[in-house]
Amino acid sequence: MADAVLELADGRRIPYRVAVSPRGHAIRFRLSALGGLVVTVPRAFDRSRLGTIVDGKRDWVLHHLERLEAANPPTATLTPPREFKLLALAETWRVEYQAALAKVMTARTAGPGRIVVAGQVENMAACHAVLHRWLVRRGQDTLAPWLERLSGETGLRHGGIAIKGQRTRWGSCSARGGINLNYKLLFLPREWVRYVLVHELCHTVELNHSPRFWDLVQRFEPRAREISAALRNARAYLPAWVL
Ligand SMILES: [Zn+2]
Repeated sequence: MADAVLELADGRRIPYRVAVSPRGHAIRFRLSALGGLVVTVPRAFDRSRLGTIVDGKRDWVLHHLERLEAANPPTATLTPPREFKLLALAETWRVEYQAALAKVMTARTAGPGRIVVAGQVENMAACHAVLHRWLVRRGQDTLAPWLERLSGETGLRHGGIAIKGQRTRWGSCSARGGINLNYKLLFLPREWVRYVLVHELCHTVELNHSPRFWDLVQRFEPRAREISAALRNARAYLPAWVL
């Protein structure tokens, strides 16, 4: 349904689902952290009136939304992002949500700076899940070739690249030289990402944090110590929905 989005007084756009009640006679509104906004209408209801009726409930929705958000931590925030920036790539992405009955949800790149999330968009957890998968793909398309270039520049060879969504690490390197990179790096300043990539490549030679390891890192990134310290607060760069 094209009009299944309600714009609130504070500018937020809330997607909603329309359910049909076979026996009910009244229009009912339900808002929950898990199910989002659901509008239940009687079977014999003139759908052309729906937009006006839902608009008339804006204050009610905003009031209940604020109460829900106060009761839930930021990571459980009800509304998925409308826009986000990937600092490492100097990219800004706008996200559109299209309600569809399809069981499989998708997040696809629809054009430059434009992502379309389609499916049951009232399901916030599902929206976040497809956006995370989109970010993993963006990481594969950008971080992997970047690591490849740095590998060529430094002469440090790795044993494969995987992009993941680790909770606490920006990257890691296995004994076989396999490098895992966190897609959340995409939200960090470019210079910091380069440092993390160099750091992991150096682990293919020194699988430890010995003085020899740091000498090697500093050969390719003279500001390594400084950036390494700054990275401790890097989570501040991450939007709440990727934490
Ligand atoms: Zn390390």
